[in-house]
Parts: sequence; structure tokens; C-alpha cells
Amino acid sequence: MPEIMHMTLSEVRKALADKTLGAAEVTEAALKRIEATEPKVRALISVQAEEARALAKSLDAQGPDASKPLWGVPLVVKDVLATKDVPTTCGSRILENFRPVYDATAVARLKDAGAILVGKANMDEFAMGSTTENSAYFATRNPWDLERVPGGSSGGSGATVAAGQCFGALGTDTGGSIRLPASFCGIVGLKPTYGRVSRFGMVAYGSSLDQIGPMTRSVEDAARMLQVIAGHDGRDSTSVDVPVPDYLAVLAEKGDLRGLTIGLPAEYWDKGLSSEVAEACGAAVKKCEELGAKAVPVQLKLSQYAIATYYIIAVAEASSNLARFDGVRYGHRTENPADLMDMYVKSRTEGFGDEVQRRIILGTYVLSSGYYDAYYRKAAQVRRLIRKDFEAALSQCDLLAGPVCPTTAFKVGEMTSDPLQMYLMDIFTISTNLAGLPGMSLPVGLGRETGMPIGLQLTGRAFDEARMLQAAHALEKSVPATGLATL
Ligand code: GLN
Repeated sequence: MPEIMHMTLSEVRKALADKTLGAAEVTEAALKRIEATEPKVRALISVQAEEARALAKSLDAQGPDASKPLWGVPLVVKDVLATKDVPTTCGSRILENFRPVYDATAVARLKDAGAILVGKANMDEFAMGSTTENSAYFATRNPWDLERVPGGSSGGSGATVAAGQCFGALGTDTGGSIRLPASFCGIVGLKPTYGRVSRFGMVAYGSSLDQIGPMTRSVEDAARMLQVIAGHDGRDSTSVDVPVPDYLAVLAEKGDLRGLTIGLPAEYWDKGLSSEVAEACGAAVKKCEELGAKAVPVQLKLSQYAIATYYIIAVAEASSNLARFDGVRYGHRTENPADLMDMYVKSRTEGFGDEVQRRIILGTYVLSSGYYDAYYRKAAQVRRLIRKDFEAALSQCDLLAGPVCPTTAFKVGEMTSDPLQMYLMDIFTISTNLAGLPGMSLPVGLGRETGMPIGLQLTGRAFDEARMLQAAHALEKSVPATGLATL
């Protein structure tokens, strides 16, 4: 791997700022690494090599700009985020030729901060899945073991960062899609509080659940990216106008966990965990205590209803959001339809994959008259109670800690024949989205049996990403270093 690609985002931006490295040199290193590893990993749906080179050259000609916090840094964004004039497929055939005429706000903010977009990351079609095998184009492999999945749905973003192809990526998380691939690929992944980051330009899956967040190699890197993308945006009515703290200052404030209370939800720790996940996450919690934190048991009694609730609300919203892909306004249209209805049916049948169709059908069903009260309304009520459950737990502690997933990365193909089994793997991540809270995955070591990375999940109070980042930053130095995948 080119020496440069071993650096973290924070390290490379410093080298760029003090001119030890130039933007063109760094971009070339990233493109070289992409070229060397893509045949095996397949993290990217498209690579913007020429655009990246041209931008790097012009940045170098102007010289480093201290007002731009990501000046010259090559980054990747998930292909669900609109990028001006650059294909944005959402991992779907139906958007195969879609080139947006605008940038998503999060993308625009990265660009304004001086970042260089080098690629668009592969994903489960419309962000539906947990393995990135639902992409209409190809499956992404886990750089730690090519026989295993990188997690999903932001698996391309996870794999590209873990393979050292770029210095950070944006993912999106509706029910765990940042935290799961971060955990499976051994990197940091942060899902902000609902409303912290603008969703403008993110193709919607479950609008009341979706959030964009950073996936990086260190907590400091995640803080730097979040700093850039967070904050109110008038173009997203659900983006909240609350101040964004100076995350780097918060990280520098404190190097230990004294005064912090960490809640351990009984429901996350008791059953079904593989022994290596229980061991690595348990050891990380011990470290928290050594660093001064107090660990207390808490309860999230409604956890058992989280999967059922999520898979009603998410599919209901998806069925409504995906109605716009009708073969008329966007993307794929069938050839020679018999009539209008035939055009809709064939365009959507040809354009959407099986999992997306399954969810549209489920979502339409739970919203249909006669079933709405039994399913959708009931799920919305249970969601309210789940949120209260979290509020109660987080009134007894500052942060919650638990595993991200019961196991390490699955083998390719292991879950594809059984969608329900795949849904069950979201057990620890989805309630965070139902409650709208910030959550992250921090790598805490490699599994004793599989040798695969394991992430510890932290969940914070609403809009309190700062405290979560601060704790993760302190803990990061004390847990076994995961490093980059060797590939
Ligand atoms: N695995 C979950 C789903 O398929 C979560 C996906 C996501 O967060 N985008 O819905």
C-alpha cells in the first residue's frame, strides 16, 4: 500500500496543510490504491479519477487554504447521495443512468471544505440490507477476509475506508447501516442524531429514520467530518437548528472517562451474543471502568419489539418514497410497453431488485386501508414507547454501551436465502434510529475465533454526539488497535 494511504484523515490533512504533501500526490496515492484493490474488494460503483486529478491540480496551484478543514483530502461518498453530474445509482438498476443536477448538502459541505471526491460507494439497493449483497451491480467484499461481507447497507463505504482507498467516507444509517459495516470492517462509524445532518439530496428510504454520517479510521477523523457536515439546512425541514459544538476542542478537553456513567442494557448483553463478540465488548467496557467510568445496568425492555416495529415503519415509508420511480421522471423505462399501466409495472419490475420489491409490497400492505390501524399505527405507538425506554435509560447514565451485532462479519451468501434471518441481525442497531438518537461503532479488537473486527456500540442522548466522541476518543487509545486490513 502506498505509504500515504496508511495515514489517517487527520494526519494527511496536516501534511497537506504544511505542504509536506501536495493534493495531487495524495490523490494519486488514493487512485493507485483503488486500482490495486478494487478487483478484489469492489467497494466502488464509480471512480471519479479524472475529476479528482483536475481538482487536486487546481488546489495545488492555489496552495493550502487554512479555512478549509478538508483541503485536498480524497473521500468517498455512498451512492445514495446526490452528486452533481456524477452518477448516483443507489445501487439500483432503476437509477443506472441518473446524474443529479445538484449536490446533496452533506456532499456540498465536504466540497466547500476542500475535499476531493474520488468515488461513489457500493451499497445495498436503496440502502435495504445488511451485507451489500443486495446491490444490483455486484457484491462488495470485506477487505479483512474476501470470503466475508463488509456489512451493509453502507458496505462500500466501510470497505473503501478499511482497504485504505481513501481517508474517510460518508454512509447513511436507517437501521444500522453505518454502524454495522463500521463494526464488520474495523473502522469508526457514526450515526448522528436525527436532524443533526441535512438529508437534502439523500435519496430517501425511511425518511423518519435516515441519517448521513462519517465512516473513518479514527474517532478524531469522524469528529472532523461530522464538524463539516453537521448543522441546520433550510432545504431539509427536519434538520434541526441547534448549535454544533467544536468537536475537536471537546476531544482535546479530556483524555479519560472520569465522571462518566455508562449504562449496559441487560437486553443487549444477555443472550445470543457470539462468545468472541461478548469477550471483546466486555473487555472494552472493563477498559472504560479502568479509565474512570462507572458502569451501571439499565433496561431497554421494549427491545424485543424493535425489529417488528422497524420493519413496519421502514417499509411503509419506503413504499411511499419509492413511488416516485415510475419510469417517467427518473431512470429506467421499459421498452415497448403495451399501455400506461404496463409501462409502470414493467419499468418497476425490471428496475427494482427482489428485496426492494418485497419491501414495497410489505409497506403498501401495512399502509392499506383496513390494515393501517393494526400495523402502521400500532408500530408508530410502539416506537413512541421505545423512545421513552431510551429516555429513561439515558436518565440514569450518559451513554449506553453494547455490541453492534451478535456476530462478526458473515460469510458471503450465508444470509441471502433467508431475509428474516438477515433482519434479525439488526437487533442492536435499529432502536437507536426509532428513538432518533446518535450512535456509533468503535473498533475494539479482533475476534478470537474468526479474526474479524468487532465494534462496540455507543448510544448517546439526542444532539450529544460530543460526549460520545469524547468517550470513544479516550477509549480508542486503550483498546487493542485494529489497524488497516492487509490485502
Ligand atoms: N438492515 C436494515 C435494513 O435493511 C438497515 C439498513 C439501513 O440502515 N439503511 O433496513
